[in-house]
Amino acid sequence: MMARMSERVGRVWRLRQRPQGPLKAGDLVLDEQAVGDPRPDEVVLRTIFLSLDPTNRIWMSDVDQYLPPVEIGQPMRGVTLGVVEESTSPRFQPGDLVTPHEGTWSTYQTVSASRLSRIRAAPDLPLSAYMSVLGPPGLTAYVGMLDIGQAREGQTVTISAAAGAVGSVAGQIARARGCRVIGIAGGEEKCRWLTSELSFDGAVDYKKGHVGEQVRALCPEGIDVHFENVGGAILDAVIPSMRIGGRIALCGMISTYNDDGPVLGPREFQRVLMQRLTIQGFIIMDHFARAREAYAEIETMIRDGRLKWKDHIVDGLENAADAVNLLFTGQNDGKLMVRVSAA
Ligand code: NDP
Repeated sequence: MMARMSERVGRVWRLRQRPQGPLKAGDLVLDEQAVGDPRPDEVVLRTIFLSLDPTNRIWMSDVDQYLPPVEIGQPMRGVTLGVVEESTSPRFQPGDLVTPHEGTWSTYQTVSASRLSRIRAAPDLPLSAYMSVLGPPGLTAYVGMLDIGQAREGQTVTISAAAGAVGSVAGQIARARGCRVIGIAGGEEKCRWLTSELSFDGAVDYKKGHVGEQVRALCPEGIDVHFENVGGAILDAVIPSMRIGGRIALCGMISTYNDDGPVLGPREFQRVLMQRLTIQGFIIMDHFARAREAYAEIETMIRDGRLKWKDHIVDGLENAADAVNLLFTGQNDGKLMVRVSAA
């Protein structure tokens, strides 16, 4: 006979102390927790996938940010995909796939049915795709490239962290719209993947040679749209090659997330004036209304063979804290996530 949920014990990562620099052992702690029975209109869900994202490091800090920082002692916040195991809500049945609006790094969550979104997964696509290309990274790429960057046919587009979850999709969306796309990534292998597998028009290995010169050589007429994921030295290297009236979609600044103290702006800020640039930051949770259109177009591209992606899956919730640092060393090969339990 199946155990009542209340007799079950789950596991959860809690924030023990705010990291200084890269996350290290002891900043998070893996605890046991009782799995609560669902009250009226609640469900108990078992986590299948936990997304590991660069922004996790921001949430662990107490810098001014777009969501409240995770409090010390509280479960670590994270985007998850789970399956309903028990439900007192007429809207959800056991077996339904869902994503909670406030997910945590845990094996089980008991949540209000009003704080869940249903995932309608196509049976012929891997479920992990709903954490990557058909999940928040895919939506971020779509909104960032088309709404914020406003990339149009014939334009030259550059992207940093181009071989990553967001960057690789952003580049393929721009290619599909008839742009000339140059990716910036770390290492020969990632650059080769961009040009040979994803049909980018060129790639700059930022670990080899002068980035600004390489960008200039590949974009002699200048850049119309730059999709920024890294910030710091990479953004400094790109700005001088922006065309007059160019747009920068500021999606992320991963090179700064492990730093303490204020993050400075571009070194050559005067170029923003001289070249009449628009720099627009965006946070994807403000753009969920675009999800239906974005996912429909991305799924069509997948089925047409025009969009490829990689998921980097680490097994076991206990490995989440170590794995998150892969994002900051570039050792992730595609969308990083943890398989917490079998689908
Ligand atoms: P990725 O899959 O791109 O992984 C992160 C990559 O960043 C690494 O693989 C590495 O690639 C690169 N990187 C890490 N540190 C540095 C550094 N110091 N200098 C240069 N490159 C570095 O992660 P995501 O696709 O999930 O995220 C990409 C960016 O998008 C992040 O900045 C993230 O915060 C942002 N983002 C923003 C959202 C929003 O709402 N605005 C939503 C989702 C993501 P390499 O090997 O090439 O160095």
